[in-house]
Amino acid sequence: MGPFADIDHESCLGFTKSKADGAEILAQRGVVLAGLQERLFANGRSGDTRSVLLVLQGMDTAGKGGIVRNVMGMVDPQGVAHASFGKPTEEELSHDFLWRIHKQIPPAGHIGVFDRSHYEDVLVVRVHNLVPRSVWEPRYDIINQFEDELIASGTVIIKVALALSFEEQGRRLAERLDRPDKYWKYNPGDVDERGFWSDYQAAYQAMLDRTDTPGAPWYVVPANRKWYARLAVTELLIDALERLDLDWPPADFDVEVEKARLAATRE
Ligand code: ATP
Repeated sequence: MGPFADIDHESCLGFTKSKADGAEILAQRGVVLAGLQERLFANGRSGDTRSVLLVLQGMDTAGKGGIVRNVMGMVDPQGVAHASFGKPTEEELSHDFLWRIHKQIPPAGHIGVFDRSHYEDVLVVRVHNLVPRSVWEPRYDIINQFEDELIASGTVIIKVALALSFEEQGRRLAERLDRPDKYWKYNPGDVDERGFWSDYQAAYQAMLDRTDTPGAPWYVVPANRKWYARLAVTELLIDALERLDLDWPPADFDVEVEKARLAATRE
């Protein structure tokens, strides 16, 4: 089936600290992330057109929502553009598959987060043949081209494939059925999808093989330990923002003149 199915889902990829340490480090790194995000936002307000897009893909219960809550929750919500992509509406289906995606591209200065994305159109759509192969097959190249254009217009794309094991998904679904406070997350359809596990793993592998580009690489993040996946995504965001080399935007007014004007208002 390929390396995606075979990765160590429990792994913390060299991170040797405990879960408790991980939570503390997450909070500390959250402060760093928030500072960088504020700079991005400030620059966006001052004419810088750059933005960041975090694409989250993963099987049901992989923890996409938890990353949105716990990682993006550490930064100023004004600078976050969140979009989730469920089953397309009639109107969305009447357009090209990227139509609904284009509408959610993050504005300048924002961190966009896609909870599911255009990749559903080569994942669930491929697994269930929702359109013929002749339609989904060219989508890998179409996606690569779309992402290249997005990068050229100033968006840094971070693509995260959360790698959850079959067993862990079983445990998470069982927990949803055991706890009334989790019923709202349970969807009977998730059990049906679980029956297509190996088809999904193959579809994820094809996605990684065909859309892992130099400009928009995929990061496969082991997701059995939620705290680790959240920390890993935080680090990916910090790294991307640091590479933008953001400074505070300079004043577009004369600071000394303004100080004098303000002083003159004193009674
Ligand atoms: P989640 O499972 O992400 O927590 P949810 O259970 O609340 O979310 P929605 O977000 O409404 O459900 O929809 C998710 C479902 O929509 C998934 O089963 C996904 O495979 C499906 N979906 C997303 N994009 C497409 C698409 N382009 N075509 C068909 N189905 C899609």
